[in-house]
Amino acid sequence: MRIVLLGPPGAGKGTQAVRLAQHFDCPHVSTGDIFRSNVAEGTELGQAAKEYLDKGDLVPDEVVIAMVMDRLGSPDCAGGFLLDGFPRTVAQAEALDLNLAAEETPLHSVLCFEAADEELFRRLAGRSAELGRSDDGEETIRHRLEVYATKTRPLVDYYMHRRLLSVVDAVGHVEDITTRILDALRAAVARLTGVADAVSNANANGNGNGNGHGNDYGHGYTPGAEPGTATASAAVTVRTL
Ligand code: AMP
Repeated sequence: MRIVLLGPPGAGKGTQAVRLAQHFDCPHVSTGDIFRSNVAEGTELGQAAKEYLDKGDLVPDEVVIAMVMDRLGSPDCAGGFLLDGFPRTVAQAEALDLNLAAEETPLHSVLCFEAADEELFRRLAGRSAELGRSDDGEETIRHRLEVYATKTRPLVDYYMHRRLLSVVDAVGHVEDITTRILDALRAAVARLTGVADAVSNANANGNGNGNGHGNDYGHGYTPGAEPGTATASAAVTVRTL
């Protein structure tokens, strides 16, 4: 499956991504991890990104987009991937859509992790004490939450409009959250199957043009696509853990 994990810092995307990547046997592409390992290795990319990471600011779109598109072009991503921490701006989401549409491999689902700000702050402050991450100081944590609210939260509407979004309650035991996610993915696959069936029926009846009109949403939208662009294949199953 091709899945995006959306949500504020501290929502547990990384923890769930590791479990889901194992479950689906696909790569976990974490932009934060890629940046941190480049910073640690002192690469050119790491040097360019470090000041943004330290302040809790977003690395400029063009840098991140080029990095992610390069990564998604690797053979191991051909069968699917979990994107964790990307996209974080509307420009990044648009670039991702364009790239995936060109390959006719649109997203299957976007999972948005939700937790109250106080809970996120508590978790991030705890992680700071444990791991000593340079972007987990109190002020930086607050700044990162603000950056999420202003730059990334608009993606909730962006993906809702494309009928790809599932909201996941990110508070509770790790296993329970994974179960919620798999339930949400099962529902997303069922939606895609319904759309694929409706589109192929419309085409078989000679009145469909394959651009999403005639689907069961009645709005001319297909998941993952503006009308006229590719729709994710429904040939995906979600197993229970
Ligand atoms: P994360 O581990 O996902 O919270 O990311 C850590 C930091 O990496 C962020 O605070 C940003 O500075 C940078 N970063 C990660 N992903 C992105 C992205 N998609 N766009 C811009 N900056 C990013």
